[in-house]
Amino acid sequence: MSLIRTREESFINLNPLQTGGRTNAAVRVTAASYVDGYSVCDYCKGVLHLIEKPPICELTKQLAEFLNMDEARLTLGAREGKFEVMHTILSPGDAIVVDSNRHYTTYVAAECIGAKIYEVPNTGYPAYEILSSAYRQTFDEVIAQTGNPPKLALLTHVDGEYGNLVDAREVGQICQEYGVPFLLNTAYTAGRMEVKGKDLVADFIVVSAHKGFGVPGTIGVLATTEKWAERLFRKSVRYPKKDIELLGCTARSAAAACLITALPYVKERVKDWDEDVKKARWFVEQMEALGDIEQLGIKPTKHDLLRFKTPLFDKMAGQQRKRGYFLYYELEKRGITGIKPGQTAWFKLSTYGLTWEQVKYLFGAFEEIAKQG
Ligand SMILES: *Cc1c(COP(=O)(O)O)cnc(C)c1O
Repeated sequence: MSLIRTREESFINLNPLQTGGRTNAAVRVTAASYVDGYSVCDYCKGVLHLIEKPPICELTKQLAEFLNMDEARLTLGAREGKFEVMHTILSPGDAIVVDSNRHYTTYVAAECIGAKIYEVPNTGYPAYEILSSAYRQTFDEVIAQTGNPPKLALLTHVDGEYGNLVDAREVGQICQEYGVPFLLNTAYTAGRMEVKGKDLVADFIVVSAHKGFGVPGTIGVLATTEKWAERLFRKSVRYPKKDIELLGCTARSAAAACLITALPYVKERVKDWDEDVKKARWFVEQMEALGDIEQLGIKPTKHDLLRFKTPLFDKMAGQQRKRGYFLYYELEKRGITGIKPGQTAWFKLSTYGLTWEQVKYLFGAFEEIAKQG
């Protein structure tokens, strides 16, 4: 059975999970060349991040520098990075503070450790904003309840529900004031915009490279500062070369080679971030001008992940033979995909990586569909 996927070739794909992980031609060549199992291990001397051919050693150094941290390692994704930090720092029953816009994997990782989870509330409809001051309040609550500050705090730099960018530096400074180690989840920021960990007072940064660096999965980055490197990257007693928390090796696959190919391109693309945000803002303005459509999350948006509340399309769905699926099919007819089929009351999309021409075409398609109603 041949399994050929042509979503990126045949459509404008709006799926927020996928737009930052879209691969370029060079990355696809690398992927094909390293597709065989363990192919990055030809010249391995026992440590994945020290392999010189392909230059994973240089890659991890450059990643640490790119994120303005001291040390970096490859992981299998953002969730594994979060788990590794939590597992290093927390014992069962210890308190962790996380933002309530966090990804489910943050919660599940903390659950797996047996940590006691405290959530920083957002401001609710319509902005659902995480204010840095709410971290202070939550820390104070933890102190009132347990007598101590939490053992770890996590912030989702940009969340996957509203695309809200939080002022990480302010949260980092509050963490520093309370003596709480600060883990920043940059799944939706690193690789799109510049993220400079030490400027944000982060102790740990996790990256999802298949979400933000234009590579196939599964691969991520875990970066930290000198202060924590030895503890986080402690070695096995029996196997003194092996990072215990990483179970020896992580992304031992084509994904690691692809990240080498992608990094120079990613370093360039983050410079265009302001233009990416402009496109998203323009699109929001146009959509809202259609009437009965509202962008949720902070305004004006600071990210390409957009969540819309769309009574306009929901009312139209009631009149359509295909019901809630009509929007999906109308978009598909126009070469656009990536919105969840059946959803019309609200949906998420991402304009990341689209040219102005494509963003305008995209709005034109929504406008045409809206005017049919
Ligand atoms: C996508 C996402 C993740 C999961 O990333 P993986 O690399 O697949 O583990 C974690 N956190 C946030 C905020 C995400 O958006």
